[in-house]
Amino acid sequence: MVRKREPSIRLSKNNGVNATIPLCPFCGKPKNMIAMLGAAGDKLAKELGRPDGDLPMYTKIPGDDEPCEECLKNNIHFVVVDRLPAPKGPRPKRVGSFLLPRAVAPDFLNPDVVDKVMERGGAIIDEKGAENLTRAFNKAVENARKEHISDSTKDE
Ligand SMILES: [Zn+2]
Repeated sequence: MVRKREPSIRLSKNNGVNATIPLCPFCGKPKNMIAMLGAAGDKLAKELGRPDGDLPMYTKIPGDDEPCEECLKNNIHFVVVDRLPAPKGPRPKRVGSFLLPRAVAPDFLNPDVVDKVMERGGAIIDEKGAENLTRAFNKAVENARKEHISDSTKDE
């Protein structure tokens, strides 16, 4: 029998569940959730200059790269892994994540792919793929700027 592991935390001696509202790492606004960090929260609070170990109401949690709901509505969330998942290969390791504005994505990605990825709430990409995507994005921004410049010279 496989026992399902329940998510659990070690409680803080003085601050119990030590709850806080995490700030979105992308827009900095409070997320629509509560994080209970327990004893780990005491350590973080002390690093943030709170000697009593009690977390403030809002905290930017180090290593948190999950966007808030609002960011997910307007952006495509790409989770970057060290290698793409393969049927019998080792488990990919998450190395970070980034957002791509939904509005500009169809400029350099197949719009059908964009829709599918948005439906699924994001995509997994390896570091090489992330590099290529960043390059394509920068090029699209550059082209848009050039077009804008030539448009404004036309008007004059
Ligand atoms: Zn956000």
